Amino acid sequence: MSLLVIGSLAFDDVETPFAKQQNILAGSGTFISISAGFFAENIQLVGVVGEDFGEKNLNLYRERGIDISGVQVVAGGKTFRWSGRYHYDMNSRDTLDTQLNVLADFNPVIPHAYQQAKFVCLGNIDPVLQKNVLGQISRPKLVVCDTMNFWIEGKPKELQETLALVDALIINDSEARQLSKDPNLIKSARIIRAMGPKILIIKKGEHGALLFTDSGIFSAPAYPLETVFDPTGAGDCFAGGFIGYLAKAGEVNDQTLRRAVLYGSTMASFCVEKFGVERLLDLTPLEVGDRFQSFLDLSKIDD
Ligand code: AMP
Repeated sequence: MSLLVIGSLAFDDVETPFAKQQNILAGSGTFISISAGFFAENIQLVGVVGEDFGEKNLNLYRERGIDISGVQVVAGGKTFRWSGRYHYDMNSRDTLDTQLNVLADFNPVIPHAYQQAKFVCLGNIDPVLQKNVLGQISRPKLVVCDTMNFWIEGKPKELQETLALVDALIINDSEARQLSKDPNLIKSARIIRAMGPKILIIKKGEHGALLFTDSGIFSAPAYPLETVFDPTGAGDCFAGGFIGYLAKAGEVNDQTLRRAVLYGSTMASFCVEKFGVERLLDLTPLEVGDRFQSFLDLSKIDD
């Protein structure tokens, strides 16, 4: 089924204690759409870039079958830029700089062909824009939303308005504590679900992810990787794998949601193996299937 993705399209500068790279093709929209492309067929991307983004980068989406007729290219504009530095644990990070550039005046226009999308992923972007998108489309089967500390602190009221309209929220543990103003994740989940999203996923980095629904809690492990190269985009790849799998399954129920969390974790585990989307570009569906099976095996017990 068709999947509409909105998110940032960016150039990142990333520094870890072990490596450093500049001008990496990144952004939530990039990670989500490429990750979801391993599952969903009809992906429609909405975003904005400056003239500096270049045809070569735009072709990368086209070559992967991602429809970019919803991506605006602003003449003379500069693409969104983010830079960050990871701590020794490769989990926590400091944002060094955020330059919104063309994202500051972005007014998303959803092409007519995208308005009937059955699955929608509101990637990490200004919550005002996320709400604006929902106002332009017919009611989808599932709306998944992602956000980050930048918006939780910067636009709390606007974020609440968006959360009231979404079915699922994907955030990490520190964001959950910040959004709920409660240190306990189980209480946080109750508080956040009362804000709107009945499906809540709290990611705990190298400790896996928790899925909260009306049926209860499902806990997914993280893949035990020895080498984490660049964690940037792991959350977005999780979101892409999660909603991409659901769009392919076409059904949202307890079983598909649990599998979607494991596919999200699978995609996140690949993302961190190289800088930016590099690992996703040489990844094969066979590798995705094998790692999904490894996830199942991680907590399997024979009777
Ligand atoms: P993640 O590591 O999954 O949280 O996502 C990192 C991506 O989010 C990077 O590629 C950044 O370009 C992008 N990003 C960082 N800050 C923002 C922001 N304020 N709005 C939109 N995208 C952002």
